[in-house]
Parts: sequence; structure tokens; C-alpha cells
Amino acid sequence: MSPEQDTLDCAVIGAGISGLVAADLLHRAGRRVAVLEQESIVGGRMASRRSARDTNTGLGSPAVFDQGAQYFTTKDVLFEGLVRSWEEAGLVREWSQGFATSDGSFYADGLARYCGLPDMSAVPNHLARNLDVRLDLRASKVEWHRTTWRITDEDGQILTANSLILTPPIPISLALIDAGLVEVPKVQRDILNRIEYEPCLAVMLLLQDGANLPKPGGMWSVGEPIAWIADNHVKGVSPIPGAITIHAGPDFSHDQWQSTDEAIVRELVAAAGEWLGSQVIDAWVKRWRYSKPFLTYPEPCLYIRKPGPILLAGDAFAGPRVEGAALSGMAAATALL
Ligand SMILES: Cc1cc2nc3c(=O)[nH]c(=O)nc-3n(C[C@H](O)[C@H](O)[C@H](O)COP(=O)(O)OP(=O)(O)OC[C@H]3O[C@@H](n4cnc5c(N)ncnc54)[C@H](O)[C@@H]3O)c2cc1C
Repeated sequence: MSPEQDTLDCAVIGAGISGLVAADLLHRAGRRVAVLEQESIVGGRMASRRSARDTNTGLGSPAVFDQGAQYFTTKDVLFEGLVRSWEEAGLVREWSQGFATSDGSFYADGLARYCGLPDMSAVPNHLARNLDVRLDLRASKVEWHRTTWRITDEDGQILTANSLILTPPIPISLALIDAGLVEVPKVQRDILNRIEYEPCLAVMLLLQDGANLPKPGGMWSVGEPIAWIADNHVKGVSPIPGAITIHAGPDFSHDQWQSTDEAIVRELVAAAGEWLGSQVIDAWVKRWRYSKPFLTYPEPCLYIRKPGPILLAGDAFAGPRVEGAALSGMAAATALL
């Protein structure tokens, strides 16, 4: 096949929810689109993992954990429509309209929180099903070459496309652009330069028995050192009990970023105290360097038309959460179409 025939209509970098929503819309509009993802799974920050040591439980099946986003809300009517379609397809369900707080009482605020079925990766996996997703491919440069965009990975492999949508966290998208000497207009660049992200240390624990968290299995903790605790079994994610996700608060995550996994687990297990209730038999740490942006761009995506169509999208645009990321992906695809 000649390079021209091989050129995609659009290449999307990042198979998180924003990239997948954008690619899905373009694919359904008949565009030749591929999604490049550096990880071996799709979903980005909507990630779920299985425990490696399923035999530890003696139950023959692995424990399952939602590691990143735990639930999402729907505030925008456009996203609401998308969520209704996911609900009808059996990919999401309403989890709760509030959660326990650290004194164990339930705080109801009337705002529906949705979760994936069976876990948070359900929607990304579903969207990726019919798409050309290229995993384990980390883009290192995007550059305009005559009439097309070229994406280079670390091994120097090249993919060409007529347009690009970049959905990694902003500092990564800017590094890709800078490596290819692509110019972002100064006003927009100044705003993008100011977008920074909170880190989040997540700890996944496998307990000997079930935990003590009240229904529906999620707890808004005091904030520091723990912001959130979830029991993935009570939530319906893990087939076996005692699968706990802890999200540390931003201060603890920042201060302990360089600590060993053992030290992080030790401190957070001690802070979770009575809510765990039984012995920890396995634990691991996930370091989310780019958990949530502090500041968001004032538009749902950024469309740069010269030297060729390139869009920046993701949760730094339409809001620092799943809903914002999905809306930004929709906005980017719509702008291209
Ligand atoms: C711990 C945690 C808890 C959260 N809790 C909630 C919550 O309860 N509710 C809520 O609504 N939101 C929550 N969020 C935020 C939510 O997960 C994000 O806003 C949303 O998932 C972002 O989607 P995205 O597509 O913009 O980015 P991402 O999901 O980050 O997708 C970007 C993708 O790009 C890939 N990528 C990056 N660089 C490259 C490269 N060079 N080449 C190829 N691929 C690349 C990444 O691997 C990733 O898959 C949470 C996030 C975290 C981390």
C-alpha cells in the first residue's frame, strides 16, 4: 500500500474516554480513524484491574478493582443522552445518590452517580470494540509533513493522518507538539501552560475477608490522608470480597510520591483503620501523576487549523471528570466533521 493510501482521515492519540468517544463519532461518520494508546489496555483513567494472585483467595477467580475514576455524574444534557444509551446497552448503572462519610453516616445529596457494569472499563472497552485501536504505542512526536500529519513513536515508526486529535494530559500533548515544532498561537499556549494536575496515589488491597464499609460500598473520607475508600465487592465490581480501593488526598499524594510502595500502603492501611476489618493479604500502588487538572481551558476543545487540522481534547477542556472528558471528545469530533 502506498503512503497516501495508508493515510488515515484522523489519528487520535489516547484511548481514554475522550479519545474513544471522539474516534467512535468519527468512525460512525465513515471516517478512517485509528486510536494510538501507550498502554496495553484502553480506558486511561477509567481503568479496572484484576488481581494477579487469584489463588490467594482460594475462590478461583481474581478480585477486580476500579483503580481510577470511581463513578461519574451527568450534568450536561448531551452527556445525559450518551449515558442513557450506555445504560440501555447494559454498560452502566446508577450506583448511588450519595455515599457514606467517615463517621459511617450516609450523606445523600440527590445527585445520581453512575458506575460501569461490571466495572469502570466497560464503556471504554465497548467503544474500542469496533475501532482500530493500536495498543502499546507511545507517540513521541507529531509533525506536519507537506500535506499530512506524521506521528512518530519511540522506535521511529511512522503513522500518517490528515487530522489529529490529541487527548493525553496537557503537558504530554504539548511535549508531542513541541517535539514536532508545531506552533500553538500564543494566547492559547499561555493558557495551556498554566494547566497543572493533582497527583493521586491509589492503593488496592486484597483482604482476607470482607471489609467493614457500609453500603453502597463507597466512602468520602476526610480528605487527607484518605479522600475515598471503596469496597469493590459491595459495589458489584469484584466477584470476591475484600477488594478495596483507597485514593489518597492530594497533599498526601504529593508528599509521599517518592515513598516506597510498602511505606504508602502501610500509612494508608493504618489511616483506613477499622473500615478494613480484616488482614491485608496483597496490596499494590498505582501512581496517577495526572489525576485531575486544577484549571480547565475555557472551551470544550482547542482546534488549531494551521499547518493542518490538529485538536487538543480531554478533561482539561470541558471539566475535570469523566463527563467533561467525554464532552470534550464529542466537541473535537464534531469540530472535525
Ligand atoms: C484516581 C482518580 C479518581 C478519579 N475519580 C473520578 C470520579 O470519581 N469521577 C469522575 O467523573 N472522574 C474521576 N476522575 C477523573 C476521570 O477519570 C478523568 O477526568 C477522565 O477519565 C479523563 O479522560 P481523558 O480521556 O481526558 O484522559 P485519560 O483517561 O488520561 O486518557 C488519555 C490516554 O492517553 C494515553 N496517552 C498518554 N500519552 C500518550 C502517548 N504519548 N501516546 C499514546 N497514548 C498516550 C494514556 O495512556 C491514556 O490512556 C478520576 C481520576 C483519577 C486518576
